[in-house]
Amino acid sequence: MNHPFRYAAAAFASGAAALAFGADALAGEAEDALIAKVVSAYGGDRLRNMKSIRINDVYKNAFPGQGYTSGYVEFTPLSQDARIDLAGERGSVEGWSANWNFDTHTRQLSAGEEIVTVNYRDGTYQHATAPDFFSAFGIVYRVSDTLLAYQLAKSAQTAKAAGEENYLGRPHKLITFEMPQSPPLTLHVDAESGVISKMTRETAFGALTYLFSDHKTVGGVGYASSFEFFIGKDPNIITTSRNISVNTVRSNVFSVDRGIVEEPARVSQSEMTVDEIAEGVHLAGVGGAGAAAYTAFIDAGDHVIAVGGYAGLKARYDAYKDAVGHSKPIRYQIVTHHHTDHLGGMADALALGATFVSPANAVENVSVAAGETPPADRLIVLDGEMTLGPVKIYDIATSHAESYALVYAPGAKVAFQADHYTGNYEGDTPTSAGVGAVTLKKAIDDLGLDVDILLSAHGRKAVPWAEFETAVENYDASPCPSGRAICG
Ligand SMILES: [Zn+2]
Repeated sequence: MNHPFRYAAAAFASGAAALAFGADALAGEAEDALIAKVVSAYGGDRLRNMKSIRINDVYKNAFPGQGYTSGYVEFTPLSQDARIDLAGERGSVEGWSANWNFDTHTRQLSAGEEIVTVNYRDGTYQHATAPDFFSAFGIVYRVSDTLLAYQLAKSAQTAKAAGEENYLGRPHKLITFEMPQSPPLTLHVDAESGVISKMTRETAFGALTYLFSDHKTVGGVGYASSFEFFIGKDPNIITTSRNISVNTVRSNVFSVDRGIVEEPARVSQSEMTVDEIAEGVHLAGVGGAGAAAYTAFIDAGDHVIAVGGYAGLKARYDAYKDAVGHSKPIRYQIVTHHHTDHLGGMADALALGATFVSPANAVENVSVAAGETPPADRLIVLDGEMTLGPVKIYDIATSHAESYALVYAPGAKVAFQADHYTGNYEGDTPTSAGVGAVTLKKAIDDLGLDVDILLSAHGRKAVPWAEFETAVENYDASPCPSGRAICG
């Protein structure tokens, strides 16, 4: 994966908590008193009557399991401009991020009755997958103590006092409340000042912790100028600056910018498909709500070679067997690189009897994902390059990973890669390329490979080499081609 908001979506993922608003339900006295204290700390009526809020952040963002090396995870800068129309339940979140491997500039916004995402690098917009306001913009509430205080007051009937604790040497009172599209939130409120020091919640991703400090006031409304976010014990977001303003959001932000056009039609990925790419080479997979996950199966005579290891490998293999009408075993599973999202299917591969072919720096993560270290006779550590029946495998370095297994089938002139380029659109329209695509093309050119078709772990489209070349030629190395304020 290579898009910061996809990671953010995982980091902040919502759960399916049903809201139970009893018409006459009221919080108890302890809850009422604590809510009043929080509201007072954040501005009293100024908070309650707030019409809109704008939050400008600069983050350092970590993507767990996605480091350049397998040793640690680098932080990526992310600038974010969030605007929320509270009364109208409309949002706009613009994000700009540029690092060694990708640069993205997008804005998710409420536009009329729908939620869309603008891609400023492409000059296009698409219909967003988030179905409603809180699915799309609940993330903004959760990272802002001001909005948490605002929403606590609004959802007072769901609030429950949840005990006390000492935090940073100061007594704190805990209170839980419910917000749409999220498991319940627990606020840790400084008993003396009433400010929110911490918010915690339990999700499918484990315990998430949101820390707020350096509380200030602007326009009579309180906010923490420092924010950190943890997944379990691991720091995931650190703010390097935060500014807010109240009642400054104008309605004209809630429309798609002039000159931005709807993106071309996307290749359909809604169903599991098995496409024959060339003789003996098939691509199986499906898109859906999460990351699209595709595996190439290459017929090698009495067995097949699989490459592309996302979760759901067995389902893709079963679909492949149904489509081709045989049940040759997966003898080899090629591990593209050490990133953990590409290893979710390794337990399936182990159970199916495959021998792993892996870059050296991915072996540890493969073992964790598979549930055990593969037996020595079922593990081939990639060293430079190797030939495995109809495929060649090259250990290359790109901007995405220091050690990456590029798979090439010379007979079919097909190459398979993950995370460097995915064609999204029908026909020959290229998708915008990032630095990863540029470095991949250079590696393929340096190896002198004759590639007709480029396959991706993240998409169904069999990309003609000419499209990939065009995408790389079109790459604009300027970090801020749009010239918009967030990056200009
Ligand atoms: Zn990756």
